[in-house]
Amino acid sequence: MACETARINEELRQVLVDLCYLTASWNIDVGGLEIDHMPAFEHAFQILGWDNPHICKDLQCDVPSCKHRWVSNKATANGHRKRCWDHVEEDE
Ligand SMILES: [Zn+2]
Repeated sequence: MACETARINEELRQVLVDLCYLTASWNIDVGGLEIDHMPAFEHAFQILGWDNPHICKDLQCDVPSCKHRWVSNKATANGHRKRCWDHVEEDE
């Protein structure tokens, strides 16, 4: 029973992460998600133990020093290339 509860809690936690990833505002100064005056995100960030803003390396463009959110995730010979709109046309 405790094991089942732990599994459900982990799934709920992942749902919160997914919802934040899908809908929370992007903070370009840090390259992460932010609450942006939305009470639902305030609660979600609190549950997840995230700072506000929450830096998300896995959502950032992979051009060094760029803090934009990637919009293109392209498979290449060297692995996936994640780029923002500003860098999507640039070569490796
Ligand atoms: Zn970029």
